[in-house]
Amino acid sequence: MSEKSPVWHPFHQHGLGEHIPLVERAEGAALHTSDGRDVIDAISSWWVITHGHNHPHIVAAIQDQAAKLDQLIFAGWTHQPAEDLARGLTAIMPAELEYVFFSDSGSTAVEVALKMALGFWTNSGAPRDRIVVMEHSYHGDTIGAMSVGERGVFNRAYSPLLFDVETIPFPNAGQEQHTLDALEAACRTGQAAAFIVEPLVLGAGGMLMYSPETLRAMRDICSRHDVLFIADEVMTGWGRTGTLLACHQADVVPDILCLAKGLTGGSMPLAVTMASAPIYDAHYSTDRSKLFFHSSSFTANPIACAAANANLAIWREEPVRERVTTLAKNLAAGFELLAAKHPVSNVRQMGSIIAMDVEAQDAGYLADIGLKMREGFFARDILLRPLGNTIYLMPPYCISEQQLDRIFSVIDQTLSDVL
Ligand SMILES: *Cc1c(COP(=O)(O)O)cnc(C)c1O
Repeated sequence: MSEKSPVWHPFHQHGLGEHIPLVERAEGAALHTSDGRDVIDAISSWWVITHGHNHPHIVAAIQDQAAKLDQLIFAGWTHQPAEDLARGLTAIMPAELEYVFFSDSGSTAVEVALKMALGFWTNSGAPRDRIVVMEHSYHGDTIGAMSVGERGVFNRAYSPLLFDVETIPFPNAGQEQHTLDALEAACRTGQAAAFIVEPLVLGAGGMLMYSPETLRAMRDICSRHDVLFIADEVMTGWGRTGTLLACHQADVVPDILCLAKGLTGGSMPLAVTMASAPIYDAHYSTDRSKLFFHSSSFTANPIACAAANANLAIWREEPVRERVTTLAKNLAAGFELLAAKHPVSNVRQMGSIIAMDVEAQDAGYLADIGLKMREGFFARDILLRPLGNTIYLMPPYCISEQQLDRIFSVIDQTLSDVL
């Protein structure tokens, strides 16, 4: 755009003067820009688009619902799309998660989960106030969600507003026992209200992965000490890791589950926090002071709920799991060739998420090499956004083999250029 735009972009340094593409249309894994470029969306528009952009069933559901009921107060009122969605979710998510609380983003789903956990202990008459978290985690950018996430350059300026948490180390391969011991110690104090964790993959922390066995062991420790287990599946949910939930691979049922991003297939902002009966029951009373004090204007927006119902129908009617399995195989093959040719290390994969670290002098989120690679990818019509020196792919499940081959060849060329 020629004239300076008043738009202030998220996680973007306007002072670097990077070109900001304007996208007019999309379908599947393709984005079409106003200057006539066709760009492949290799990161699902920041991890949200699961089936592909503008899936016709989701588009139709949004159009139908918009013409019927656009928005409704949700405190003490209800509508069919929310009722259907809550029943649809309880039918496919672990049976113990009997209740569905709506909000609008992953961050708010996490805020709600933390408030539910403290509300549970307070209403039970045995208040606990410590939250246990894992190093390198990301749970969102609101104050509570930042408090339970990794501290660093992203939130240094806001640190006076963040509350204290108990942090356990990330379970690096071979050092899992260290993590489990730290969790055990944090839980044993009797002050821990809840442990919040991203199951199997820490996304924004650098696509760090750990085993289902460790996830299972962490769950067992929390159960033993009556510490609530909060699974933040905002990124890992909806098939990303190869199963509907990452927790399924570890046979883990959380007390509280956060879902957002792919809940609507990525088409509309919507989130849910699902809770087990004891959490709900602790707020269930004739005493109004025990109700769950949380709401936002667009709680359970009907159009967003209709989009989520269409997502559930796609999971029932289309071979989504098979698509993820095939995609996972193709991703592995492509990265194997790249790793054989370039100085990269630590290739890791969980379903439709694959990552590798480029050996570079400067690492970390603000590494220059990340920006250089991003520019190289975009110059060749690929949307990829390295996390520091970590290149990862997380494409929509509909991506074609031709589009994947194109992505691998662009990574190949870009690595040759920047290294
Ligand atoms: C993206 C993300 C969030 C925050 O979701 P928003 O919708 O961006 O607020 C929370 N947790 C995890 C694991 C995420 O990846």
